[in-house]
Parts: sequence; C-alpha cells; structure tokens
Amino acid sequence: MNRRSFAQSVSGMAVLSLTKASVWAQATAEAKPGKIMAIAAHPGDGLFTMGAVLAQQIERGGAGVLLSLSLGEKGAPRSIPVEQYGEMQRTATQKAAALLGAEAILFSYPDAEMPFNEEISLRVCDVIRQHKPEVVVTHWSGSWHKDHQNCHLIVRDAIFYAGLETLPRSQPAHSVSKTFYAENWEDAANFLPDTYVSIESVYEKWLEACDFYPMWRGQTGFFRYNDYYSSLAVMRGCLSGAKHAVALMSDLNQRTEHVPFL
Ligand SMILES: [Zn+2]
Repeated sequence: MNRRSFAQSVSGMAVLSLTKASVWAQATAEAKPGKIMAIAAHPGDGLFTMGAVLAQQIERGGAGVLLSLSLGEKGAPRSIPVEQYGEMQRTATQKAAALLGAEAILFSYPDAEMPFNEEISLRVCDVIRQHKPEVVVTHWSGSWHKDHQNCHLIVRDAIFYAGLETLPRSQPAHSVSKTFYAENWEDAANFLPDTYVSIESVYEKWLEACDFYPMWRGQTGFFRYNDYYSSLAVMRGCLSGAKHAVALMSDLNQRTEHVPFL
C-alpha cells in the first residue's frame, strides 16, 4: 500500500467510523440534528477543543450548550489580577457562545482546585437533565492537568446520575446516547481518536470565536493555542477527506456492536 492509497483507506475508515459512531455526524445527512453539550474544566478547553463541533451541529440545525466548570482564572498573566482575568474569561465565553449560537453556562469552582465529589457531579447531572443533550463531549482522562482529570470523572458520574430514574432530582431522568472525548494537547496520554467530524463550514467562525480569548492570542503564556488548534483541524481534515475536521474519541463502553452471528 502506497501513501496515497493509505490516505484514501484512512479517509474511508474515518467516514465509516463517523457514520457508525455518531447520530449527529455530518456524514449521515439523513440523521436528525440533535443537541450536544460540551463540558470543560476551563472555558478555553470548551471553545478550542469542543467549540467547532458545537458550531458544526448548530449549523446543521441542531443545538449546542457549553458548560465550563470554572472560569480558568488562574491562567492569568502577571499583569492582570486573577479575579479580573476570570471576568475577562466569562465575557469572552459569552461572546464566543453568542457568535456560534450556543448557550453558555459558567460555574465558578476554583481553577486548579476543581473538586471531585457528589455535589459537583449532581450539579452537572442537573444541567444534563435540564438540557437533555443526545451527545456529551468532555475531557479524556489521560491528562496531566488535575482539573481535566476531575472533569472527566465528574462528567462520567453526572451522566450516570442523569440517567438513573430511581435518583430523584428536580428534573426527570435523561439518558445521554453518546459520549465523546475531545482532542486536547493537555489530555494526550493514550488518546486514540476514532470519530472524525468535518467542520469545513464553520472553521472560520470557530476561529473568530476562539479569538475572543487572550490565551488564544498568545497573551497569557508560552503555548501557541491559535497555531496548534487551527493546524490540528487541517491535519485531521487531511486524514478524513475534509478541508478541516475535528477528531474525537468515543467512550470505550459504547463501541460494542450487536450483529447477527453468521
Ligand atoms: Zn484546561
């Protein structure tokens, strides 16, 4: 197999995977667009790693909700007080969500000190029950960042609680159909994407939304978020036959297929 046929093969697999793994993927034009909820530890994670998928779903006629568990305030540069930076993050998220047509929900658990307990898991459960998303996208567990690790665990428990009919809350139970993990430079350990989503039609708008964040523009630290995530979308597009794409990892527990035994 030469490089060209390998690329075509990978591209075909990607589309096949997309079709099989997703009720909301662009490749399945007949699929009814549903609601996606992105749940991130910090607002930047939500927009940079999950925002394009939200935008793509909204563009198709579906709906998107972004929940950030903190304001990411401790990512402040030395020149800006932490509280002030948190408010800048809040404003950026509201502007970005409005541009994409998504609903933004911002919790204010302390950045870098994200708890993992029943209180926060049940609070996220309540948001899931209220908004009833078919799909949830969140952090992969293989992260060096403790807030990201905790967010992964919080969402795992929240989805379980949300679907548990015998757990009384203010809203009735709601079962999330699919869970995916976003590609994040900080969550790279053992991240193995299997689902590619074309974001061709929303790429520019997504970049514009990310640009509301000082972090995206390189004003808070060394990492080149803009270059990394804009290029990543190009690279994932190369592998999936699209101009720009996002790669996601489906939850291992939803990969089982039931087929007739031959
Ligand atoms: Zn983060």
